[in-house]
Amino acid sequence: MQIYRNISLKEHNTFGIDVKTDVLLLIQTPEDAAELAGSSYTARGKYLITGKGSNLLYLSDYRGTVIKSCIDGIIAEKQGDDSVVVRAGSGTDWDTLVGWCVSRGYGGLENLSAIPGTAGAAPVQNIGAYGTEVKDVIEKVRAVSVTDGRIKEFSAGDCRFAYRDSVFKNEEKGKWLIAEVWFRLSTRPLFSFGYSGLKEEAERLGGVTLANVRQAVINIRGRKLPDPANTGNAGSFFKNPVVANEVAEMLRSRYPGVILYADPSGGFKVPAGWLIEQCGWKGRRTGDAGVWEKQALVLVNYGKATGREIFELSEMIRKSVYEKFGIALEREVEIVE
Ligand SMILES: Cc1cc2nc3c(=O)[nH]c(=O)nc-3n(C[C@H](O)[C@H](O)[C@H](O)COP(=O)(O)OP(=O)(O)OC[C@H]3O[C@@H](n4cnc5c(N)ncnc54)[C@H](O)[C@@H]3O)c2cc1C
Repeated sequence: MQIYRNISLKEHNTFGIDVKTDVLLLIQTPEDAAELAGSSYTARGKYLITGKGSNLLYLSDYRGTVIKSCIDGIIAEKQGDDSVVVRAGSGTDWDTLVGWCVSRGYGGLENLSAIPGTAGAAPVQNIGAYGTEVKDVIEKVRAVSVTDGRIKEFSAGDCRFAYRDSVFKNEEKGKWLIAEVWFRLSTRPLFSFGYSGLKEEAERLGGVTLANVRQAVINIRGRKLPDPANTGNAGSFFKNPVVANEVAEMLRSRYPGVILYADPSGGFKVPAGWLIEQCGWKGRRTGDAGVWEKQALVLVNYGKATGREIFELSEMIRKSVYEKFGIALEREVEIVE
């Protein structure tokens, strides 16, 4: 385990917020994680388990210990003719894992290409994009208790996945360091084209193959999302709200162009980016905090914005969406104080 004291987190969060933490621990192995149990880092002080910080917004210096998983490695075990189980260390770069699987002909993760972050964080918020959620291919999650060092395997059912949600964001929050994630992938891929434009983009690239679908996702994302290497951001700042049928009807009658998606709950999912755009926020900027010009759901740091400035901008957006539509936006990005 590597230990750093009083160090900047700027390189450890994709918003590029320049705050410090009292201690930063880089965890290299599950044994390192077990050593945290009963240590001064977790038993007495405040602590936060992270990956690459691509879904976090730090509001101020962190008066505690940031524990970052760097447990690396990918292995695959064939299971019969049709499927393969791929095991990834939690610190493995997510997109490296997706590329690794696609290049070997293992299908199931390709729609989730180019999402920043680590394999270990994927189950925490059940990452999703282009009609796919990672829950559909997670076999199990192996985690180490940071309170007593015990290892536990969570089946997909135990993870209680929901839209950008899991048990790790709720009752088990902060208790486990996810060490390894197991994915069941297909060697006879079935493609998912729930998102309009994806199939067409893959065909333009030469036909529907795993590699072309992955490239199509990368191309589409690259056209509308800011690259954190150039412009600090954490992807979608808010979740897409689900509204009741009456609200959906009201939106359709007032805004004939609105696109709503039927939700399994019975209501309708409204694109949060559309709501924000209707309130006039797209492309607006206050100091170095702004709303991305090509996708209003993404808040950005143009350079020296503080976490608090971005947070305040997000609160103004929430207020104006509520005043115009009566819809309360819920944050997808986790606020850290
Ligand atoms: C440009 C951009 C685009 C994005 N697009 C998408 C998208 O399409 N879909 C999507 O779902 N998300 C998207 N995101 C959000 C983000 O990439 C994902 O949430 C990602 O999974 C976060 O990974 P991370 O390693 O950075 O986790 P962090 O941000 O460091 O942590 C996120 C959460 O996971 C927990 N956590 C992290 N690692 C562990 C671990 N090893 N053990 C236990 N808990 C852990 C943390 O405590 C925290 O609660 C995007 C972000 C950016 C910057």
